[in-house]
Amino acid sequence: MRLSQMLFVTLKEDPSEAEIPSHKLLLRAGLIRRIGRGIYAYLPMMWRVLQKVSQIVREEMNATGAQECLLPQLQPAELWQESGRWDTYTKAEGIMFALSDRVQQDMGLGPTHEEVITAVARDMVRSYRQLPVNLYQIQTKFRDEIRPRFGLMRGREFIMKDAYSFHADEASLKETYRAMDGAYRKILSRCGLAFRAVEADSGAIGGSGSQEFMILAEAGEDEILYTADGRYAANVEKAVSLPADAEPSTFRACEKRATPDTDTIEKLCAFLQCSPTQVVKNVLYQAVLDNGKTLLVLVSIRADQDVNEVKLTNELTKRAGDYGAKTLIALTVPDAEAQQKWAAKPLPLGYMSPALADDFIRGGQDVSPKFLRFVDATAIALQNFVTGADEAGYHVVGANWGEDFALPKQQVDVRTAKAGDRAVHDPTQTLETARGIEAGHIFQLGTKYSSAMGATFTNEAGESVPLVMGCYGIGVSRLAQAAVEQSHDKDGIVWPVAIAPYHAIVVVPNIADADQMAAAEKLYTELNAAGIETLLDDRDSRAGFKFKDADLIGIPYRIVTGRSLKDGKVEVVQRATRESQELPVEAVVSTLQQWIAEACRV
Ligand code: ATP
Ligand code: MG
Repeated sequence: MRLSQMLFVTLKEDPSEAEIPSHKLLLRAGLIRRIGRGIYAYLPMMWRVLQKVSQIVREEMNATGAQECLLPQLQPAELWQESGRWDTYTKAEGIMFALSDRVQQDMGLGPTHEEVITAVARDMVRSYRQLPVNLYQIQTKFRDEIRPRFGLMRGREFIMKDAYSFHADEASLKETYRAMDGAYRKILSRCGLAFRAVEADSGAIGGSGSQEFMILAEAGEDEILYTADGRYAANVEKAVSLPADAEPSTFRACEKRATPDTDTIEKLCAFLQCSPTQVVKNVLYQAVLDNGKTLLVLVSIRADQDVNEVKLTNELTKRAGDYGAKTLIALTVPDAEAQQKWAAKPLPLGYMSPALADDFIRGGQDVSPKFLRFVDATAIALQNFVTGADEAGYHVVGANWGEDFALPKQQVDVRTAKAGDRAVHDPTQTLETARGIEAGHIFQLGTKYSSAMGATFTNEAGESVPLVMGCYGIGVSRLAQAAVEQSHDKDGIVWPVAIAPYHAIVVVPNIADADQMAAAEKLYTELNAAGIETLLDDRDSRAGFKFKDADLIGIPYRIVTGRSLKDGKVEVVQRATRESQELPVEAVVSTLQQWIAEACRV
């Protein structure tokens, strides 16, 4: 393609709408254009990148025996009502765009396709003889994200590959899950990305596990904890660890003490001259369930530790049934305004004990009248501890479970693991931290959707049982931008060769020079004929300006038909290393072929 004939517009300045480097660079390079909140046009060069990523994904999916299909984006509400997700997706979470058609039927734009594929399997899979089967598609998804941001990273319309597998039993699911794990690793390696596979939160359904594939980058929204021995890596949402040891308590007798102005752990520990590892802090949460009920949750945890809200959400979701609900919609730390809606009197914030009286709750139809009390393993282990006295300005020291405070029945692990903690698998290893961009997620679903939607098959014993399912997603458009986030420099994008929009760009410093133009035309034709995807910068602009653009758009190899032409040579510059060399014109094609093959080898 000739730049003079392309829709090619680059920007000198960073666009104000972009915060992170990859978003700025994609806009500046003219690869994407914002159309609306979380909505982007993929312009021709970006579309080439997306097609390359898709093709790598397709090849690796096909290699596992998965079959490509295309499912509808416009989905009838009934399917989502059958699975029980319509209300949560369209109202509670509101992630799904919903609409009503001309005959007043409710429809949704697909944020994901479990319902549709389960409906297909319900109709078509009758017998264990048809199993296992794995179907995938590469398609635009719609999600009304609360906070669309960072360009393609979190869009409201984005491209995903999603696959769904069906099995007769868990063992068969595990086999496909392992194959998909392998395929995902190959996809990311082939795309030239540094990544880490991590244990991921599977939500309250638990299932038998899930993994995320994180592209390592500082701007990543996710925190990863891992050990140097390579045996443990997990999303912080899911990570477990051994907490630091608690210091032995110096308090011998249980007594109430005046501790004025100690409403933070720091002030309290300074006042009492004790370690936070001797303190039980009590954190109040407000949970809203899908039946409209509000639940007040008191979590007791060792004061040097933090509550992991994902783990807490999972624990609460498991117990939603006790309150006549199916799931949890929101979990927050109630502010003063929220407290007013249910508190009978001002709470002793900063001085609460695990036994905070239920009469702090005014009650009412939509509020559960009793605190749901959780105690974390770190708090259970403490003796002679310090905690609040349920009265502003007072604490209790030297307290013990069973004597001074009833140990809450709900004993849980809701602690946030953190860098520096010892690893569970080997306490000599400590957890390290890194940031990542979630590019993919593979998930053992089990029978959640098949049971809900009545997708059964006849097993070998002749019984009708629900299909066992897995699902596997990879964000094609997010991955493409994440590649830029991981690979760029001050001058622009440095595309990994395998997904670069073009392999090479021939730059003519001066188009008025007939020799330069002729040599460039010849190289351009020969390179393209040899399968090396090449651009020709034949624009009537200054050489320096063209070099800047070539750097900005990140084409891996730049060929300049400049001064050394008189010796039968051209300058070839590698974008990633900036290494420059003079090559005889006739050696260019074979050299680039070799470089490209090397760069794409995994
Ligand atoms: P996140 O936690 O980032 O919202 P998710 O858990 O909702 O992701 P999945 O439902 O597992 O994501 O979707 C599979 C993949 O699709 C993700 O791993 C990610 O690469 C991509 N993806 C999800 N949401 C978006 C989005 N809003 N924009 C771009 N890509 C997305
Ligand atoms: Mg999401």
